[in-house]
Amino acid sequence: MQGYSLNKRILVTGGAGFLGSHLCERLLAEGSEVLCVDNFFTGTRRNIEHLIGNPRFELLRHDVTFPLYVEVDEIYNLACPASPVHYQFDPVQTTKTSVMGAINMLGLAKRTKAKIFQASTSEVYGDPSVHPQPESYWGNVNPIGPRACYDEGKRCAETLFFDYHRQHDLRIKVIRIFNTYGPRMHPGDGRVVSNFIVQALKGEDITIYGDGNQTRSFCYVDDLVEGMIRMMASPDDVTGPVNLGNAGEFRISELAEAVLRLTGSNSKLIRLPLPQDDPKQRKPDTTIAERHLDWAPEVGLEEGLKRTIAYFQSVDLGAR
Ligand code: NAD
Ligand code: UDP
Ligand code: UDP
Repeated sequence: MQGYSLNKRILVTGGAGFLGSHLCERLLAEGSEVLCVDNFFTGTRRNIEHLIGNPRFELLRHDVTFPLYVEVDEIYNLACPASPVHYQFDPVQTTKTSVMGAINMLGLAKRTKAKIFQASTSEVYGDPSVHPQPESYWGNVNPIGPRACYDEGKRCAETLFFDYHRQHDLRIKVIRIFNTYGPRMHPGDGRVVSNFIVQALKGEDITIYGDGNQTRSFCYVDDLVEGMIRMMASPDDVTGPVNLGNAGEFRISELAEAVLRLTGSNSKLIRLPLPQDDPKQRKPDTTIAERHLDWAPEVGLEEGLKRTIAYFQSVDLGAR
């Protein structure tokens, strides 16, 4: 395993977002220099304001669909809206961000010989017919549906990563992230964990889409960031794709009940229509992460929800 030397220069795209801000924090704590690039589409300055002032931290407002010329040793490419509400708001920009963003960051990696990491997603498996999902499963994605801008954008980004690896010998690291939650999720971003917690804390109805029997596996952010760091530090022949996620699988109705219990809220559960192409089930096969990264998540759903609830209790939810 390669260790982290002092003053490694690391670019984090999407660094002002939910996952990116935790990653920047962790990289700074390890002694690296961090260049955080973000266009603030879904990320906010608030997520990283505690890092501003650290002499090893630099913030650049920039859209990754445009070229970027900087000198770095490693690149974590996270720029892309992640919640269905946000990525469907401007779907053309979502595809551009994934595809043109990947081309620009891969071009940058090629020129600087930087190692480059891609935050891909379990959405590449679409509405999966294989359960749980191993990396070898090619997926079941509707290429023309409302989720396609995200799913196909991320699939094309993976293609680009592997072609730059084969054609230009780039050192690549591709992970597929399964639903991850925690402090600094945007309260209005529409994802299920943030929606349910915010609704419970505000005494609003809890919105269950469909019958609530669809499943997801929820990973706490600290576990995910640990997996990201291990992936970047792994030997060059570990290119991925590697699934990172918590294998605990819950029905959405179970999540709603857990949130009600842990917040002590009296909110009512209501049913709303299931969005088109909403995957019915999702659970990672994490055998490869265990074997190659010696990684396994440590924070269970109950503990992770408690920490996330504490965060949402500390922010102004009126602003969402
Ligand atoms: P997020 O929306 O909080 O973060 C995305 C960040 O990218 C934001 O700060 C946003 O402003 C920035 N961004 C968007 N378009 C950009 C552009 N064109 N140029 C520069 N910056 C841009 O979401 P997140 O949950 O932190 O997700 C981070 C990454 O992880 C994304 O690539 C997402 O696809 C991936 N991912 C997340 C999850 C999850 O459950 N959280 C699951 C699978 C994959
Ligand atoms: N690029 C960039 N920063 C760099 C080098 C390249 O943003 O430091 C962009 C550049 O805009 C280019 C893309 O990355 O379009 C792909 O670069 P590559 O060298 O692979 O392709 P080419 O320049 O030959 O089209
Ligand atoms: N969901 C829900 N109520 C909400 C938000 C989401 O029932 O208020 C459901 C959604 O239909 C999906 C699951 O929760 O089945 C996870 O949704 P999310 O948007 O968090 O992520 P996805 O995994 O679908 O990208």
